Amino acid sequence: MRLGVLANRLVLVDGDTAVDLEQASNGRFPADPARLFDTWDTLAEWAATARPDGQRLPLDQLQNPIPAPRQVFGIGANYRDHLAEASGRAVADIGEFLPKDPLIFTKFRSSLAGPTDAIPLPSRNVDWEVELVVVMGRHAERVSEKDAWRHVAGLTVGQDISERVLQMAGPAPQFSMGKSFPAFGPMGPVLVTPDAFEDPDDLEIGCTLNGRVMQKGRTSDLIFSVAELISYISTVCPLLPGDVIFTGTPAGVGAFRKPPVFLKPGDTLVSWVKGIGELHNPVTAGHDYTDDDNQTGDKS
Ligand code: ZN
Repeated sequence: MRLGVLANRLVLVDGDTAVDLEQASNGRFPADPARLFDTWDTLAEWAATARPDGQRLPLDQLQNPIPAPRQVFGIGANYRDHLAEASGRAVADIGEFLPKDPLIFTKFRSSLAGPTDAIPLPSRNVDWEVELVVVMGRHAERVSEKDAWRHVAGLTVGQDISERVLQMAGPAPQFSMGKSFPAFGPMGPVLVTPDAFEDPDDLEIGCTLNGRVMQKGRTSDLIFSVAELISYISTVCPLLPGDVIFTGTPAGVGAFRKPPVFLKPGDTLVSWVKGIGELHNPVTAGHDYTDDDNQTGDKS
């Protein structure tokens, strides 16, 4: 099943069109994206066999499929090649930097955005991080790795946009703040249930900046897999239906390039996970953005 949101209503996506979920189900399932998980189990069952009918809607205005999760988790340093670029080591030499447990932060909910929304830059130190995003479908508390996928509603694509100076500022890094400016969490274009993938633990992921490939990897290279992340987080925080987990980014971010590359007004960032779809986010100048060369801030 592929679910999206058009004009603030839930839709079932089929090929390059969609049908309205409430209309196609004769009112059995809600139109309101905030109520998607009220009837998740019966919806998944119904969608597996139903032949939904109705007016075919074009997909050009898809919105964030999960606009209001109660909790948003982000994972740092979760691909070996990204940990290598961040630590300045070869992938074979990162043993001492490998985290023992997942590194967790939050992206505050106000940072979430849709698959084609503009990203306004607060500074010249803003970087990209394409990520697989897991959406929870069932309450998960102290679940085992073996049981973890059973609690997942589906997968979507996300960008963990990051202001690198604020992220690393202060005596303890401010990951959650540096990654939470408005529109720093574009998501979409659709939510895809795990059964739609041959192997939901091995998906191609990548992003381009102005047509140039910046990141390309596979989710099978995650240091902590989807199941391990869910199991670990749920030992501390019960995961609630609709919660989202940004699972980490592969190598190729801007900050560790020589010289570093950061987002500029006029850029176009395209992010994909094969089998889910693409985000197309234009980059604009935010209120405090300046082209002034004297703007303070270390570029990495
Ligand atoms: Zn990230």
